[in-house]
Amino acid sequence: MLVSAKEMLQKARKEGYAVGQFNINNLEWTKAVLQTAQEANSPVILGVSEGAGKYMCGFSTVAAMVREMIKNLKITVPVALHLDHGSYEAALACIDAGFSSVMFDGSHYPIEENITKTKELVRITGEKGISLEAEVGSIGGEEDGVVGTGEFADPAECEMMKDLGVTMLAAGIGNIHGKYPANWPGLSFETLEAISKRVGDLPLVLHGGTGIPEDQIKKAISLGVSKINVNTECQLAFAEATRKYIEAGKDLEGKGFDPRKLLAPGTDAIKATVREKMELFGSVNKA
Ligand SMILES: [Zn+2]
Repeated sequence: MLVSAKEMLQKARKEGYAVGQFNINNLEWTKAVLQTAQEANSPVILGVSEGAGKYMCGFSTVAAMVREMIKNLKITVPVALHLDHGSYEAALACIDAGFSSVMFDGSHYPIEENITKTKELVRITGEKGISLEAEVGSIGGEEDGVVGTGEFADPAECEMMKDLGVTMLAAGIGNIHGKYPANWPGLSFETLEAISKRVGDLPLVLHGGTGIPEDQIKKAISLGVSKINVNTECQLAFAEATRKYIEAGKDLEGKGFDPRKLLAPGTDAIKATVREKMELFGSVNKA
């Protein structure tokens, strides 16, 4: 059964660990993340961007696939199906399609408009028991064609979002999507501490989890980060394992061309990456 992310994140915030959000792209991806969460006895959040939703033939197709997979794979750990960086319209579409969590990314709007739209979604999601993630201070890098510059969130604006009643808040602290450049200065813990002071026990979300050094991840968790988004790292692991399989000529041996064989090393690589992250975030055995 799909659940809201609220309870799992409040528990994580209280007990000092983070729940991973792993973005999914297809059946293998979804299966790999769900099976790893079950094996690790960890709560998990499946992230779906608007682009990935379109790729998988629509949000309702994704919701049906995930729901049925949970049932047929006998997944008993808490699973939230979450829209990642959604527009206002996409958030409504996902609520209709049966998602249990949505992110409305209004960070590119002036703060007043971001607040007006977020407030409306707090009302709608609240009525349905769906969790809502808001964002202030855009996160750098590129996500589905939206390029952010990686600004630092204003702690006062974070407090306004908390007061609206959002479930969790993504706040830019120098993190970016995709691979980090060699001259990246690291996370701004000064900003994170200032935000934490203003928002109290509201779970904070760290986007762009790929390539942030482990000590910085752990420090961020200690300062209130309860959800960490991982996307690029699984993609890199999948691509590398698939390339090795083909470069070794395995697709030319016997029935190595069978998609169930061809995609297996990549799927296993995703599982290994997800397991590693769950251990780092501290969510193993927290289901
Ligand atoms: Zn993001």
